[in-house]
Formats: sequence, C-alpha cells, structure tokens
Amino acid sequence: MEKDFDVAIIGGGPAGSTAATYLAQAGLSVAVFESELFPRPHVGESLVPATTPVLTEIGVFDDVEAAGFPRKYGAAWTSAESRDIPHNGFSGLDHDFSLAEIMFVERDQPEVDRDYTFHVDRGKFDLILLKHAEKAGAKVFSGVRVRKVDFDDPEGVVLSCKFGTKTVEFTAGMVVDASGRQTVLGRQLKTKIPDPVFNQYAIHTWFEGLDRPGLAADSGKEDYIYVHFLPIEDTWMWQIPITDTITSVGVVTQKKRVEAAAADREEFFWNTVSSRPDLHKALQNATRVQPFKTEGDYSYAMSQITGDRYVLIGDAARFVDPIFSSGVSVALNSARIACKDIVAAHKEGDYSRERFATFEGKLRRAVRNWYEFISIYYRLNILFTAFVQDPRYRIDVVKMLQGDFYDGEEPAALKVMRETIVAVENDPSHLWHPYLGTLRAPAMEPVF
Ligand SMILES: Cc1cc2nc3c(=O)[nH]c(=O)nc-3n(C[C@H](O)[C@H](O)[C@H](O)COP(=O)(O)OP(=O)(O)OC[C@H]3O[C@@H](n4cnc5c(N)ncnc54)[C@H](O)[C@@H]3O)c2cc1C
Repeated sequence: MEKDFDVAIIGGGPAGSTAATYLAQAGLSVAVFESELFPRPHVGESLVPATTPVLTEIGVFDDVEAAGFPRKYGAAWTSAESRDIPHNGFSGLDHDFSLAEIMFVERDQPEVDRDYTFHVDRGKFDLILLKHAEKAGAKVFSGVRVRKVDFDDPEGVVLSCKFGTKTVEFTAGMVVDASGRQTVLGRQLKTKIPDPVFNQYAIHTWFEGLDRPGLAADSGKEDYIYVHFLPIEDTWMWQIPITDTITSVGVVTQKKRVEAAAADREEFFWNTVSSRPDLHKALQNATRVQPFKTEGDYSYAMSQITGDRYVLIGDAARFVDPIFSSGVSVALNSARIACKDIVAAHKEGDYSRERFATFEGKLRRAVRNWYEFISIYYRLNILFTAFVQDPRYRIDVVKMLQGDFYDGEEPAALKVMRETIVAVENDPSHLWHPYLGTLRAPAMEPVF
C-alpha cells in the first residue's frame, strides 16, 4: 500500500498534538486531522504538575509559560460540614473537615523543577500545543472530520475524512485515536463500555469579578483550584481562575438529579449552588460572561485500547470524572508513553498490537490508580479530608494530586484508604458509616 503518512492522528487536542510532536521529532511523517478550527473552547482548565515533564520534553513549556496563564500552586477543598465529625483515630492537624488544602511544593516530584502548574484557557492552550506540533513538522488538517478508519488492508489504514462536502481518503501505517470523548474508534469498533458506577453531569460557565480572595482559605491562595463540596450527595463545584478577573465555575452532580429536577440548566445551576449560601452570594455578585454549557455521559472505558495498527490515547481511551483535574495530564502522559512504543514499532516496520503492550500496561495501571482514588473520594468524602490532614498520609496524597501515577507503583496511601473503606462499609456501627456515599465502586476490585 502507498502511504501518505507513517502515522495519522484523529484529533488535535492535548493528546493528539502532543503525540504529533513526539512522532515528528522522532522523524516520522505525521498528520493530525482536527474537526474544529482552533482556537475553540473546551472544558478541562486546571492542570496538575504531571503535565510539566511532558510539556518540557516536547519543548513547549516556555510557550505555555509566556502565555501568562494563572499559576496554580495548590488545591483546596471546602465543605459545609461542621467540625463535629468524629476524627476516628486520624491524627489530623485540627480535625477540621470544612477545609483541606495542599501545596505542590510539599513534595519533590521527579522531572518537575517548579512548584506550580497552570490553569488554562483551553482555547489558547490547545492552540499553542497544536502550533508546536506543526512547527515540529506534523501536517495539521483543521476543520477536517475523520468519519471512519478502514483496517481491512494488513499493510496500513485508510481514513475517510470529511473536507467540507467532499470525502477524501488518506492512508497511513497506523492510526492514533485522540478524538477525546467523541471516541471515534471506540464507537466504530464497539469497544466502548459506559462506566457502571459513575454517571455524572456537569454544568459550567465563566464569571467575571468573582471575589476569589473572599472565598480563599488564606491570602495568597486565591488562585488555587477550589473544589467546594455541596451538601447534596455526590455534588461539588469547581472554581478555576482563567485570568485575573475571570473564573470558571462548574457544578458536577449525578445525572439522575438533573433529570429528576425538571428545571432548565440555568435554574438547576442556581438551585444547586444555593445549597451553599456563601458561594451563592459570591456568584450572584459576579457577572456571568458565557452561556451555561453542559457535559454528560462522560464516564466510560474501552475494552481494548490498542490493536493491530491502532492506539487510543487521552479521553479517546477512557474518562472517569474530573474531581482531581487529571484529564489533560492523562492525555499528555498517554501520548508520551504511547509514542515510545510507536517509534519502536516504526523502526521495526511492524505496527501490530504486541508492539504497544508496554503502553497498554502502563496506562491501565496508572488509570486504575486514578479510578480508585476517585472512587474512594466519592464513597467517603471525609476519608479524603482525613488523609490530607494526617501527616502519615499527606505526602502520598500530594503525590496523587500532583498526578504522579506513572512510575508503576501503587501509592501506599491508596492501599490504606481502600482498607479503611472496606472496614467502614462492613461495620454499620462505625463512626463514619453514616457518611458513606451512594456511588459504590468495589474498592478491593476496580471495575475495569
Ligand atoms: C466536566 C469536566 C471537567 C473537566 N475538568 C478538567 C480539569 O480541570 N483538568 C483537566 O486536566 N481535565 C479536565 N477534564 C478532562 C479534560 O477535558 C480532558 O481529559 C482533556 O481535554 C482530554 O484531552 P484529549 O486531547 O484526549 O481530548 P480533547 O481535548 O477532547 O481533544 C479531542 C479533539 O479531537 C477532535 N475530534 C473529535 N472527533 C474528531 C473527528 N472525528 N475527526 C477529527 N477530529 C475530531 C475534537 O474537536 C477535539 O479538538 C474535565 C472533563 C469534564 C467532562
């Protein structure tokens, strides 16, 4: 088969553009097919430090820094819970369950040479990454939708692409699906499995003039990400600085609550936020500068993330829940790990599935840890707060919040968290039993 490119990539978001840069830098001929014209808005604005090694390695960190995005030095979680919750043997700082916070500087992270990461306007951030891929030598087709990939020929793949009203075919040795939650290959190959536990829904927008200092735990912490727990089960609100004056705000809740409420999205947003009068008041004093947007049905996995002549990365491979801002970091790190296997496969002239086994194993292990961390958080919120505050576990929790999941080791605190959940679940008289949430992922045996 005559091939137009060594590798074709579907999607020019963070996963696709990063993979394109890695492959172009390794000397492969690469094409990125992106259906939108950038800059385009996108949810997922708060990064974790595990993005830094990848941004640095592909040589785009300085461009990201120069864009002037707000620096993110840490994260905080607030709740309306009182101090009356039993601390249950955890040696917390002051057993205050209404606030938990961490700074990235508390733990040295391999390959990370600074104590902050960024909150980003994804329109601008994704454009910087895609332009960088182009500069590295990738061919970028914008406004071009991939409709189908044909795997019939064992020599390569054929992509059918929509250019305006025309359909054009391109050939390549293999394809990388980085199409995000569109999951082009997962849907085509019927390998997509909706998550049996999580079915969350988000409503989000941007506000101008939100009093971030007024909502901050301390001065100097107004540009942290804030996750505000609302006193409604499995419901929380994010507060992410986008500029000095603009703040992204989103409410995440169970989809069934939205369906049951029979309210429009704006009404639902305000009704939900009013469960925390402090946040409600601050938001009412600010000005909404974008329409409300919604995201639903976003929790799924794939039964297969590699195959002969294909690899899935970023959200195209899997997405669970945004509670710990892991998405962009998984996108970048999955691109990094996958490209090592792809470059080696290219050298051998063999893009068969066995070639991608290292990627598959590493990604599944890392995402399994993320999944369990997220599940534990939803199952028993106060356990997370207790672990953050307990000096025995704090640094390990900071490691997870840095997104540092790719060394193949299970974080020790995760094991203790899992054991604690099982103990609380099995003992109805346990002091924390009444605080168990309803989203029940089997703690001992991750779902996927
Ligand atoms: C409610 C919510 C909040 C979130 N908050 C955060 C957060 O704070 N921090 C964080 O890190 N992550 C967050 N995420 C996750 C984050 O949005 C994603 O993990 C991240 O964008 C994944 O990057 P990606 O490159 O895999 O996919 P995307 O960024 O979605 O990029 C995929 C690209 O593929 C293109 N595409 C799709 N189909 C086709 C096609 N057929 N042909 C050509 N192009 C196509 C799309 O136009 C898109 O540009 C959040 C997610 C949700 C749902």
